[in-house]
Amino acid sequence: MKIVVSDCDHDSLDVEEKVLARDGLSFELFQCRTEDDTVARCKGAVIILNQYAPMTRKVIAALKPELRQIVRYGVGVNNIDLAAATEFGVQVCNVPDYSIDEVSDQALTMMMALARKLVPMNAATHAGAWDYQQSIPVFRLSERTVGVIGLGRIGRRFAEKAHALGCTVIGYDPVFAPAADDFVAARSLDEVLRTADIVSVHCPLTDGTRHLIDAAALAKMKRTALLINVSRGGIVDEEALAAALGTGRIAAAALDVAEVEPLPAASPLRGLANCLLTPHMGWYSAEAGLELKRKVAEEAARMARGEPVRYPVNTVS
Ligand code: NAD
Repeated sequence: MKIVVSDCDHDSLDVEEKVLARDGLSFELFQCRTEDDTVARCKGAVIILNQYAPMTRKVIAALKPELRQIVRYGVGVNNIDLAAATEFGVQVCNVPDYSIDEVSDQALTMMMALARKLVPMNAATHAGAWDYQQSIPVFRLSERTVGVIGLGRIGRRFAEKAHALGCTVIGYDPVFAPAADDFVAARSLDEVLRTADIVSVHCPLTDGTRHLIDAAALAKMKRTALLINVSRGGIVDEEALAAALGTGRIAAAALDVAEVEPLPAASPLRGLANCLLTPHMGWYSAEAGLELKRKVAEEAARMARGEPVRYPVNTVS
C-alpha cells in the first residue's frame, strides 16, 4: 500500500516510521507546495499524511481512484477541500487534541505580554532605558473583560485560564452555548467586539469566518482593546488590522498566524511596534510534537488495517 507524506517540516519522521513499521508499512516523503507538485508526487498514494500542501478539488480528483485517506498534521483542515474529499469518498482525518494546552498557553502568554507591555519594555530596557513611565498606561488584568470568539477545545481552555487570572470572560460561538452558570458568559459577536478589553480568536477558518475581523469589526472594538489571533490568519483582515494599529483604532495585537505564511517580508504588520508576531508556533512543545506525529501515523495505520478511524473530519460511505 503506497503511503506518502505530501510535505512536512519536522526535523525527523522517526516516530511515523516506527508506528507504521509495526504493520509492515513505510512511506515516501516529499515537500509538495503547489497543486501540480502534489499531483505529480502523490500519484498512486492510498494514504497521504499532509501538512500544508494544497488538497484541492483538482488534486483530490487527480489522485483518485487510489486515494482513500488524507491525515492532516494538526487541527485546521482549511487546506483540504472537504466537499471534494467527501464527494470522491476520501476520508479526511485530523488530530484535534494534541496541543490544546500549548495553543491556549500561546494566547494567554500573548495576552499577558500585551497587557504588561512586556516586549517594548524589554526592548527599551535592553537599549539603555530604565523608565516604567514608558509603559503607561497599563491596566489591572484581573479587572479586564476577555472576549473569546470560538468556544471549542482551545477557546474554552483559554477562557478557563483567563478566568483563573480573575478576568471576566465572555464568549461567542454559534454552536456551543455555555450554561447560565458557566464561567464564560454567552454574548453575540457584536457584544464581544464592543465590550471586551481583550478579544481572542479561536474559531476555524471557513468561508463564513474569512475576514470575520475586518475594518467594520475593528471599528466596533474599544480604542484600548487588544486583539489576539492564534487560530488562522485569514480570519483577520491584515490590511484592516495594520491600518487600525497604525492609527490607534485599537491598542495592540498579537498574531501567531498570517493570511499568507510565512508572513511576507513586506507585510506592514512587521514594522508595527504594537503588533507582536510569532511564526505559527502555538501548537508546538516537545511533547505535543511527538504526540502529533504518533497520532497521525496511528490514524493512517488504522485505515491501512481496515479499522474505523478515530478522528474523522468528514463522513464517507
Ligand atoms: P474546535 O473545533 O474544538 O473549536 C472551534 C469552535 O469554533 C467550535 O466550537 C465552533 O462552533 C466555533 N466556531 C465556528 N464558527 C464560528 C464563528 N463564526 N464564530 C465563532 N465561533 C465559531 O477547534 P479547536 O481545537 O479549538 O481549534 C480552533 C482553531 O485553532 C483551529 O481551527 C485551528 O485553525 C487553530 N489552531 C491553531 C494552532 C496554532 O499552532 N496556532 C494549533 C491548533 C489549532
